[in-house]
Amino acid sequence: NYTAVLAENRKLFNEVQDLRGNIRVYCRVRPFLPGQTKKQSTIEYIGENGEMIVANPTKPGKEGHRMFKFNKIFSPASTQAEVFSDTKPLIRSVLDGFNVCIFAYGQTGSGKTHTMSGPEGASEEDWGVNYRALNDLFTISQTRRSSITYEVGVQMVEIYNEQVRDLLSSDGTQKKYPFRLDILFLILEQFYFCFLDLHTLGILSTSQPNGLAVPDATMNPVRVTSDVVGLMDIGLKNRSMGSTALNERSSRSHSVVTIHVRGKDLKTGVPMHGNLHLVDLAGSERVDRSEVTGDRLKEAQHINKSLSALGDVIFALAQKSPHVPYRNSKLTQVLQSSLGGQAKTLMFVQLNPDSNSFSESLSTLKFAERVSGVELGAAKSSKEGRDVKELMEQVASLKDTISKKD
Ligand code: ADP
Ligand code: MG
Repeated sequence: NYTAVLAENRKLFNEVQDLRGNIRVYCRVRPFLPGQTKKQSTIEYIGENGEMIVANPTKPGKEGHRMFKFNKIFSPASTQAEVFSDTKPLIRSVLDGFNVCIFAYGQTGSGKTHTMSGPEGASEEDWGVNYRALNDLFTISQTRRSSITYEVGVQMVEIYNEQVRDLLSSDGTQKKYPFRLDILFLILEQFYFCFLDLHTLGILSTSQPNGLAVPDATMNPVRVTSDVVGLMDIGLKNRSMGSTALNERSSRSHSVVTIHVRGKDLKTGVPMHGNLHLVDLAGSERVDRSEVTGDRLKEAQHINKSLSALGDVIFALAQKSPHVPYRNSKLTQVLQSSLGGQAKTLMFVQLNPDSNSFSESLSTLKFAERVSGVELGAAKSSKEGRDVKELMEQVASLKDTISKKD
């Protein structure tokens, strides 16, 4: 029964995946932090094929269990290299002219920045997805050197309170785009409905000359990974400017690193352009409206709005809906050309394992479940309930066996 229910879920999941194709959801559970003494985990079970069970600490026993299924689940023991090895194929497709968006979603402290960038001043071993991605792109472009030449450029912007800021402008002044973007989108909107059908049918390429809809953001050519490390340092410094605590600010803004790859086939002269967006999203934690006012409330509302807009866009794409609501936030406007059509999307869903974080984790998982288009827990009948119960009994008995062995 245990294997039967998993097989059934997997079948359902794979069917949905086949239909949707271009949206992947990976869940990563971060470890308890060193020095943390009370280690009560809300993650009850992680299966090999992307199944997981979370336990509600206030509802002991099977009543409080809920099952989720994603393309992949990385346990707290997973290394940065392991996480990257499952991301690599996607990143490589950028060199073949695809647009790729990779997001990290989760509450503050759940490991988004760790996954995307790695710890501050990380050694190569601790590098996150963005440095590894660049490294990989450079390595492969070298091996293809005799047939294709590639040029790589990097942009880095921050979206804070629905304002886009260039993080790489060299004069140190951070450009804002108060009206330009609006004019651009006004013009785009005129064409929007004409393009809509072609776009959703995938006939119209999503590739624009500049994949990021912020034409003025500084584009820096890069040749080796150390160029990128240097640039990201500048970006991070600019990000903290004007705010007293970097962590505070970075948890309430979205950071978008865009890597543009232009290639030219040396034989045929055919050009190609792919871009990769690496997005470290603002913390998804809900803010108690009764407790915050003023700027904090405004920030919280902007974050809320943009994260739900992102969820709505990915959900609409997953459903192959004819209308994709890109215009509801700056984040989705900026990424519009790289979400949908032939573009590929990967969402890292980050979890803090602590049982204190259960309710945030649950809301994170529900968001992820919705964007992945596969809802197991809520949608399934009592038959599922029984099987999950059996599965849990098996887990409990295995735990029992293990503890007896110790
Ligand atoms: P977020 O960006 O979501 O706010 P961080 O990436 O800053 O979260 O992670 C919070 C803390 O947890 C940091 O101290 C980070 O180094 C640590 N951390 C996160 N993920 C891991 C991991 N997989 N392994 C080890 N430490 C991690
Ligand atoms: Mg962070």
